[in-house]
Amino acid sequence: LEQTYIMIKPDGVQRGLIGEVIKRFEAKGYYLRALKLQNVEQAHAEEHYIDLKSKPFYGGLVKYICSAPVVAMVWEGKSVVSTGRKIIGATNPLASEPGTIRGDFCIDVGRNIIHGSDSVESAKREIGLWFPEGLA
Ligand code: ATP
Ligand code: MG
Repeated sequence: LEQTYIMIKPDGVQRGLIGEVIKRFEAKGYYLRALKLQNVEQAHAEEHYIDLKSKPFYGGLVKYICSAPVVAMVWEGKSVVSTGRKIIGATNPLASEPGTIRGDFCIDVGRNIIHGSDSVESAKREIGLWFPEGLA
């Protein structure tokens, strides 16, 4: 079954949106396969966002992810990678449709609450990075 890596970023945790995010994925019919609250080391955040290394916002993005605990999750189910991205909404919350998580809860691209893997290949890499111990 397809799996994706979903992460509630520090702003989402601090704003009390953990339950809201889990509720939406569960309501859709997806299965929560793993979950942990984690403080993120700089090197780990850099590795997660390695593809964005050349972007001007890379340094700020890494700092943001390391600023407070995140909730790291693996979700499972039919087409969960692409459908999960739809549930999350567009990267820039001003372009995210109402009804999506980003569309409903934020306005700043640098504080957009949640991450979701962008392909099945990325999901495999990210699950390996965040759950090196494997899934129970
Ligand atoms: P994510 O990977 O977090 O799920 P995404 O795939 O929608 O988001 P990416 O292009 O992978 O978008 O960018 C990763 C993250 O970098 C974004 O979620 C956002 O937090 C941040 N980011 C992207 N573009 C900008 C920008 N122009 N300014 C500041 N931060 C940005
Ligand atoms: Mg991305």
